[in-house]
Amino acid sequence: MKTLEEISPMLEERIPSSFKFEVLHTSKKSSARVGRIHTPHGIIDTPNFVVVGTNGTLKAVDNAMVNELGVQLMFCNTYHLMLQPGTEVVRKAGGLHKFINRPFPIITDSGGFQVFSLAYGSVASELKGKGTKKTDGGVLKITEEGVLFRSYRDGAKILLTPETSIQAQKDLGADIIIPFDELPPYHIEKSKLIDSLHRTHRWEKRSLMTHLENPNGQAMYAVIHGGIDLELRKLSIATLGALPFDGFAIGGSVGKTKPEMMELLTYTMEHLPKDRPNHLLGIGDLWSIDQCVPLGFDTFDSSYPTKSARHGIAFTKRGPVNVTKGIYKEDFSPICKECTCPTCKNFSLAYVHHLMKAHEAPGMTLTSIHNIHYMVELMKSYREKILQNEL
Ligand SMILES: [Zn+2]
Repeated sequence: MKTLEEISPMLEERIPSSFKFEVLHTSKKSSARVGRIHTPHGIIDTPNFVVVGTNGTLKAVDNAMVNELGVQLMFCNTYHLMLQPGTEVVRKAGGLHKFINRPFPIITDSGGFQVFSLAYGSVASELKGKGTKKTDGGVLKITEEGVLFRSYRDGAKILLTPETSIQAQKDLGADIIIPFDELPPYHIEKSKLIDSLHRTHRWEKRSLMTHLENPNGQAMYAVIHGGIDLELRKLSIATLGALPFDGFAIGGSVGKTKPEMMELLTYTMEHLPKDRPNHLLGIGDLWSIDQCVPLGFDTFDSSYPTKSARHGIAFTKRGPVNVTKGIYKEDFSPICKECTCPTCKNFSLAYVHHLMKAHEAPGMTLTSIHNIHYMVELMKSYREKILQNEL
């Protein structure tokens, strides 16, 4: 394997042809910025919302519709695609873009998040005391090489390392890929958090080296870690910011309360280099986006709009509408009168209400389509406000 120093010069030639980030405007009122990420599959206007298509699809909405709705970036999970159908199958299909019929940008993660989430539980379940219990689907061993885990599908033991994660992401061929990292639990002793951070940095460096041996037109974002420790976040930025990553993702635990999260993210954004794009991993509810856009975040991924939709919650400018409520039984107007989405153009709220009540799958589909359209329009309005220095 070549050293990073030997590989780095290759990057200079690679950036102009396949991946480029430009800041078009920074607000006079905050750190919010409007930018443009150029990828081999098109442009991502920022700030933007990234839909989550774990298995290469959103739940309840097919990719032809997602393309039509103007979603500029989709997040797919390497862990799930590794186990089913296998990244080898996707490679044989001609890569993820072809396999899932998405000619627009895609980002994949490393698989680390899912493997460690299974082992430690989410922050939420950890706080409820269900956390550190290891399940059959979880991690068997963490070594310097990587993590040995058991597949939840067939019980097979799988070794995930920086090298195998990047190879899997090469098979998938997403425009933006993520280095292999460790997700330490929220409740962790500081000495263990420090050990984990250093190992993550070594894993990310190995990931970058593997990636740069075969750039494949892909860009790689570093994942900034350090848990809720501000000094460790700063150390992570300094360590990873010195390497030729194309952008940054903010990962790991960012706090258990909203004020704690905002303090950590504000601090992190103050220290993050401004010359490259950034992404907030797994956070994209309406409140968080509203608070984080002024900090200078570029992209957010979350399954929140589609998950809400499947529970009957439709987003509108007047606040959330629960379409399953009885008051909508005879409401023959659209979910939102001004909305131009395919759902609102073709169907009434009463009909969507009926479908949800009758447990017909299109009820979830139509509500999801509306919410995705809402997110696309919402992010457009943020960009317009930033250009006008209104936020
Ligand atoms: Zn609509």
